Amino acid sequence: MEIDPVCFKKVDYKNTKWVSEYKRRKYYFCGSNCKKAFDENPKSHVDIYHRHLHEIVNEDLRNKLRW
Ligand SMILES: [Zn+2]
Repeated sequence: MEIDPVCFKKVDYKNTKWVSEYKRRKYYFCGSNCKKAFDENPKSHVDIYHRHLHEIVNEDLRNKLRW
């Protein structure tokens, strides 16, 4: 699973057709609107994405640890 860097939904990267590459890393999107938003300003989305990724990962971990 990958995180859509625009809306932060989880994306099944094997099945999505909306992919962009930025600085030699691939980003996957839930739909054409998110890909378009990203393509218009990849840098700002990547910055926000990396800031949020930390929180998203923590949240996933919290969910896993909840019995
Ligand atoms: Zn999206």
